[in-house]
Amino acid sequence: MMDLERIDSYIAKVVESETKTFKPVGEKLKVGLDLGTAYIVLVVLDEEDNPIACEKRAARVLRDGVVVDYSGALQIVRELKEKLEARIGKELLYCAIAMPAGTESSVKTHQYIAEGVGFEVTNILDEPSAANSIYQIEDGVVVDIGGGTTGLAILKHGEVVQIEDEPTGGTHLSLVLAGNYHISFDEAEVLKQDYKRHKEIFPVVKAVIEKMAAIIKRYIKDKSIDTIYLCGGTCCLTGIEGIIEKETGVRTIKPSNPFLVTPAGIAMNC
Ligand code: ATP
Repeated sequence: MMDLERIDSYIAKVVESETKTFKPVGEKLKVGLDLGTAYIVLVVLDEEDNPIACEKRAARVLRDGVVVDYSGALQIVRELKEKLEARIGKELLYCAIAMPAGTESSVKTHQYIAEGVGFEVTNILDEPSAANSIYQIEDGVVVDIGGGTTGLAILKHGEVVQIEDEPTGGTHLSLVLAGNYHISFDEAEVLKQDYKRHKEIFPVVKAVIEKMAAIIKRYIKDKSIDTIYLCGGTCCLTGIEGIIEKETGVRTIKPSNPFLVTPAGIAMNC
């Protein structure tokens, strides 16, 4: 069973490490690089997995988990790494990376970006499995709904037995909002991330969420899954868990802040 209280306080500390730099225990620093469709995130943990510092930047250098602007990505990762090194006062040498399941062909591109800024890549994971380093569930499915993709890791007795990914994510919600409100994509992103307006925008994006739920339902069918564990920035949307639970008929839970779960989980595996 997932210990939501433990996860909430851990993720709250990761969020705090965006503005506050914590003193590490030990010498080794572990870095998780999450090259996402909507955000590029670098999380630094110490050797006991305590959050130390985090930097993120909204960027559109990937599409559906695949890098479409290599030099743009390289530039952003370099800047974020330098910021973190200035904050911590130490060079960051090692990192783990992750990508949506099914985009393994682009592993090399992600790796070259990490290496291009001076990291030695110590581990390569898929995103939902990385998230499960935080959740530590034994049975069920971890669903990571990011900017461009919905990824699943199905677990049985603590082992990942299946990973899947489909190109539907928060970007699609923003496109629908932009069309509905006659605003730009960037304005739609701001609108969508405003918790005070979630109730108002929910009916507009409900059909896209139902599509995400249908994706999940298709993959977990006949797998005797009793719980869906959500993570990824899109799951910040108030009420998303209710639609997914209703459509799939499976109990669905999420922590208070599902954002930064995956990047922190990547760092744990460095
Ligand atoms: P992917 O994993 O698909 O490549 P990513 O790693 O960039 O993408 P995340 O960083 O997990 O994905 O999530 C980004 C998405 O979460 C964006 O679409 C963003 O608009 C959305 N998001 C972030 N905060 C909120 C919020 N408060 N409410 C609704 N959506 C949010």
